[in-house]
Amino acid sequence: MSFRFSFHRLNHWPWFSLSHPKNSALPLFADLFNEARNSAANISELFARGRGVRLGVTGLSRAGKTVFITALVRHLTAFPLVSGQKNLLPVFRVAAEGRIFGGRLEPQPDDQIARFAYEDHLAALTGDDRHWPQSTKRISELRLRLDFLRERGFPKGQSHFAIDIVDYPGEWLLDLPLLTKSYADWSRETFDDGAAAAGAAVAADWRAFAQSLDPAGAEDENIARKAAEIFTAYLRAARADAYALSTLPPGRFLMPGDLEGSPALTFCPLPLPSGFEIKPGSLAAMMERRYESYKTHVVRPFFRDHFARLDRQIVLVDALAALNSGPVALRDLQRALNEVLAAFRVGAANPLTNLFRPRIDKILVAATKADHLHHLSHDRLEAILRLLTERAIERSAFSGAAVDVIALAAVRATREVAVRRGRETLDAVVGTPLAGETLGGETFDGDIEAAIFPGQLPADPRAAFRGDALALSDGEADYRFLRFRPPAPALGPDGAALPPPHIRLDRACQFLFGDRLS
Ligand code: GDP
Repeated sequence: MSFRFSFHRLNHWPWFSLSHPKNSALPLFADLFNEARNSAANISELFARGRGVRLGVTGLSRAGKTVFITALVRHLTAFPLVSGQKNLLPVFRVAAEGRIFGGRLEPQPDDQIARFAYEDHLAALTGDDRHWPQSTKRISELRLRLDFLRERGFPKGQSHFAIDIVDYPGEWLLDLPLLTKSYADWSRETFDDGAAAAGAAVAADWRAFAQSLDPAGAEDENIARKAAEIFTAYLRAARADAYALSTLPPGRFLMPGDLEGSPALTFCPLPLPSGFEIKPGSLAAMMERRYESYKTHVVRPFFRDHFARLDRQIVLVDALAALNSGPVALRDLQRALNEVLAAFRVGAANPLTNLFRPRIDKILVAATKADHLHHLSHDRLEAILRLLTERAIERSAFSGAAVDVIALAAVRATREVAVRRGRETLDAVVGTPLAGETLGGETFDGDIEAAIFPGQLPADPRAAFRGDALALSDGEADYRFLRFRPPAPALGPDGAALPPPHIRLDRACQFLFGDRLS
C-alpha cells in the first residue's frame, strides 16, 4: 500500500491520515542599443568587471527571492569562521579551501536603485517572533565584498571581489514581448488567454466587464480606472495560492514598484473586433496611448538600465505551489518560464534581445523550498523543474551561456525523519507549519511541530503535467506541500544568530560566482 500525504502532530498520537500600429521595432532598438553602448556607466563597468559580478536574482512573486538573498548575504558575511565552527558551504570551493578571510556589505554602486533591506529581512527571520520577511515588490540592490586569497590568475595573493546583487520581480521580464506588440494584438491575445480553460473561471468578471465597454465610445478616465482595477483583480486572483497560475503581462500591474496608481498603469485590454480602427478621442485610443507609454517609460528603461547590465542570473521557481494546485497550474508555470527565459536568449532566436545584448554568461534555474520535501524526493523535484524549463533552454542557445538546474532551500525550515506506518516507512519532514495552514481538515496554529509526509512526487515527471485539474482540494490531491515557520536560529559564541541551515545554497554560490574566485 502506498500513502498519500499525511501528518502527525509530534506531541499527539495517532496519525491523522488523509485519504502594432506605431511600433516599428527597429528604430526603437537601434536607439536602445546606442544608449546602452554609449553610457559611461557601462564603459566604467567593463573595467570593473574583472573584480566583480552583477548578479540578477529573479523569479515570479513568492518564488523565494528575498529569502534567498538574505540567506546568501548572511552566509557570505559570516567569514572568517570562528575556529572550530563548521563550514556551512562545503561545495563553494573558495570557502571549503579556507581562502575567504572576510565578507561585508559596502555602499551599492547605483544611487537611484533602492537598497535591498537586508538588515530588516534578517531581523524578521531571526528575531524572537521569527517570521518570513516582506517579499520583493520592486527592484533593489546590495553590494557584497569578499576578501579572499587568489590562487590562480593575476595577481595572486590577497584580492577582493564585489557581488552586486540585483533583486527584481520576474513579472517584469514578461513584458519584453510587449515591445513589438501593438495594443490591438495584445488585447486580443489577453482575451484569448482569459477564455482558455485555466483562466476561464477566474477571468470571468473582468471579461464580462470589458465586453460591456464600447471601445469606440468617448475616452473616460473613470471607466479606464475601473477597467484597470478589475483587470488587476483578475491577475491577482489568478496568482492566489489556490490557483497558483502564473501572471500575464503587463508585469507592473501586480508588481508596480514605484508606479503604483500612476496613469502609465491605468489601462487594460479591450475586446477589439479584427480590423477595428482606433479613432482619436475614443476609449480605445486612450488605452492604446497608455499602453505605448508603458512600453516607452517603463519597459524599455528597465531592460536598458538594469537587465542589460547583469553578468549572471539566478531564476527562482516555486514549483511546489503549482504542484499543489494541479497540472493546469504546472503547465501555466511552464509557459511563464518560457517567457521569462526568453529574455535571456540572444541571436537569431530572439531579435528583441539582440539590440540591448544581455551579457549574462551563466544562468541558474532553481526550484526553491526543497526543504518541504525529504531529500529522497529532490531528484524528482529537479526532474520536474527540468521539464518545466527544458523547452525554453533547448529551444535555442543562450549565446553560449551555461545553464544549470537545481533544487535548493535557501533556508531549511525542516529536518527529516523516517516514520513507520504499518509495514511501510514514510520519509517525512518535521517542521512547524505556518499558522492557518491546513491539511486534512486540520488547521495549524503556528506553534505546533508536525511530521509531514507530503506524498510522493511521480517517478516520471511527465505525470505531474497530465490532466485538467486546477485548485485541487486535499481530497483530490496526491501531494500537499505546507509552508513552515522559519527555523529557530542557532546562536554563535557571541550570541548572534548563525547563518541558517540550507540545502544546496553552496552549490548555487559555486555555479554563480565560484569560478571567479579561484
Ligand atoms: P519573493 O516574492 O520571491 O521575494 O519571495 P520570498 O523570498 O518572500 O518567499 C516567499 C515565501 O516562500 C516566504 O514567505 C516563505 O514562506 C517561503 N520560502 C521562501 N524561501 C524558502 C525556503 O528556503 N524555505 C522555506 N521553507 N520556505 C521558503
